[in-house]
Amino acid sequence: MTESGPVVLDASERVRRSHLGSEVALRLADAEVAMIALCWVDNAGITRVKAIPTGRLERAAGWGIGMSPVFDVFVVDDSITTSKHIGGPGGDLRLVPDLDRVTPLAAQPGWAWAPVDRFTQEGTGYVGCSRTFARQMVSRASKQGLIAQVSFEVEWAVGTDDNGTFVPACAGPAYGMTRVIELSDYGREVVEAIEQQGIVAEQFHPEYADGQMEISVSPRDPVGAADDSVLVRQTIRAVSQRHGFQASFAPSVVAGGVGNGGHVHLSLWRDGQNLLAGGPGRYGMTADGEAFAGGVLSALPALVAVGAPSVASYLRLVPSHWAGAYQCWGRENREAALRLVTGSSGEQDVRANLEVKCFDLSANPYLVIGSLIATGLAGISEGATLPGEITGDPVSLSEAELAERGTRRLAQSLGESVSALEASDVLREAMGDPMFEAFLAVRRAEIELFADASPADVVARTRWRW
Ligand code: GLU
Ligand code: MG
Repeated sequence: MTESGPVVLDASERVRRSHLGSEVALRLADAEVAMIALCWVDNAGITRVKAIPTGRLERAAGWGIGMSPVFDVFVVDDSITTSKHIGGPGGDLRLVPDLDRVTPLAAQPGWAWAPVDRFTQEGTGYVGCSRTFARQMVSRASKQGLIAQVSFEVEWAVGTDDNGTFVPACAGPAYGMTRVIELSDYGREVVEAIEQQGIVAEQFHPEYADGQMEISVSPRDPVGAADDSVLVRQTIRAVSQRHGFQASFAPSVVAGGVGNGGHVHLSLWRDGQNLLAGGPGRYGMTADGEAFAGGVLSALPALVAVGAPSVASYLRLVPSHWAGAYQCWGRENREAALRLVTGSSGEQDVRANLEVKCFDLSANPYLVIGSLIATGLAGISEGATLPGEITGDPVSLSEAELAERGTRRLAQSLGESVSALEASDVLREAMGDPMFEAFLAVRRAEIELFADASPADVVARTRWRW
């Protein structure tokens, strides 16, 4: 699918897509794919699905599959709220699979997966479609000659649930080879399945928390990276299940422990040049590279509501947990919400990127992409600059020192970040009122849902939701 502007499903586009759909269906049938899972991510960060037999792909490609818009106000516990523009039982949308991303699933034989764009019955892009929003922001950047390359890191805890208690699938130490030996077949099968599905896995390692693992995949176009993030997680889930385990991508798996991050790496390019390297600024940043980073950094209090959107997110987003709990930047500083990764000498022009560490995997990756690009572009149009770099753990600085360096702790609750998001004109304009209000409504409903819950209760009720 093109990323160059609004797509309208007029009569000829429907015919073209249906034709392509029938070709893809033939290839899938040859590969013995019987069913296709058409997936989208809702405002609670949950991947929802409608599935079709492969023989229906021709029609689905041109006309889509019906779905209610009410899913935009689904809450993490499957209760349903409402919002200013979206909500209620009326209306219908069409889920239209992106044929370029139809992927046979290695760990679910006979199944394929495809992300969908959501259209109105009239064939126009739906105002609540987060994938369309991400694509619109990519196109806004490309009109300024800017191309972003993105990858999402995926951390998860693998184990089982014993009456609400998480039981890790391995006992070995953090980053320990013991864990890789304990889960040797599992780890290999996860990586093989991801690679068989056309995604380049760069590395796999045991993480810090009990039973925690991580996979990094290669950067690519932003919408493709968000799709990868969805597909990688569903693949990990499917392989886990084959081994009798569950995979938790929740921000907090055990209250008080180190959580799962969903760090986003982003580099910005113009005319084939990485704007975070080879320039006259600090660590080789160009003026536009720094301005983009400055736009993201100053918008972080609001962005956190998008990238750390659940009540559980704030159990993870605490100092000295490598979660990036402070609104600051620093070269290779793993306690800074915005880490500048310069890469090693000799490859900085290729590798330099910004890592947004404060985000987690309860976020909708398409909203994350669109919001990061929107705030970065706002930084460029304002000629933003970065404040002083923070080295070391900001928790060691006094309030006065933090203030002097323009740094402060990011939100400590969803309520706090929601207030910052409500005040963000940039994000309201970028998302458009219907999407923005529906997203806020889901946040407010989740705050209410867990108003009286203890951290342990929040964790037990959300551990397996995303
Ligand atoms: N698990 C940490 C988090 O919550 C991140 C660890 C790391 O730096 O990779 O984000
Ligand atoms: Mg990690």
